[in-house]
Amino acid sequence: MKTSIKYKRVLLKLSGEALMGEQNYGIDANRLEQYALEIKRAAAEGIEIAIVIGGGNIFRGIQAASVGIDKVQGDYMGMLATVINAMALQSALEKMGLYTRLMSSMKMEQVCEPYVRRRAIRHLEKGRIVIFGAGLGSPYFTTDSAASLRAIEIGADVVLKGTRVDGVYTSDPEKDPLATKYTNLTFQEVFARNLNVMDMTAFTLCQENALPIIVFDMNVPDNLRRVLTGQEVGTLIY
Ligand code: UDP
Repeated sequence: MKTSIKYKRVLLKLSGEALMGEQNYGIDANRLEQYALEIKRAAAEGIEIAIVIGGGNIFRGIQAASVGIDKVQGDYMGMLATVINAMALQSALEKMGLYTRLMSSMKMEQVCEPYVRRRAIRHLEKGRIVIFGAGLGSPYFTTDSAASLRAIEIGADVVLKGTRVDGVYTSDPEKDPLATKYTNLTFQEVFARNLNVMDMTAFTLCQENALPIIVFDMNVPDNLRRVLTGQEVGTLIY
């Protein structure tokens, strides 16, 4: 079904947690380098790549309450965490000789450009990899929502959700040995079967704007390039 798909511009969503590798916290140097290499391979196919990265390896808004911090304050802390990851990823990509720009939804002039939609598109047209930091800059959202909205704004052909599982399953494959993987799903099927792909806000944004999502395993070498060249990897939601 996916064999002849060719993408021109994509938005890659990486979770912050994935950057931890085998650690319990923070950024694993090997994992960071591996991700940068995967992105380099994909960019070599001539595809324009924008990236949204999460912050769960450093701080999540949900942790705030447990340490007596207000929810909104915690969400801003989470957004700052995404900028730390974005800066690390930018550095790793530049080390590999790629041109990048980091754009933030919160003002941080010393380290990032402010997010300006037209400027982001221009960077992509010039072959720069654009990393969007600080989520949407608003509390009560997630980086999945940032991925969906930014993808729509920049006219991406697809949202690629890089995870540690190779797609969407009938049930949690880490708990249920009988779980099977879907190759394709419609947005309606995801709702009808109560499957978990992204949070509801992010998912609905994609559905309403007919923006397909591919969930795939980012930790398998060369998988990102394979997805982008239309090979049957992960689960396509359309
Ligand atoms: N966050 C937010 N608004 C946004 C994006 C993120 O408030 O637009 C906060 C939220 O608290 C979230 C944290 O930043 O928990 C880190 O992002 P996320 O949990 O999405 O990261 P991931 O799970 O992908 O590592």
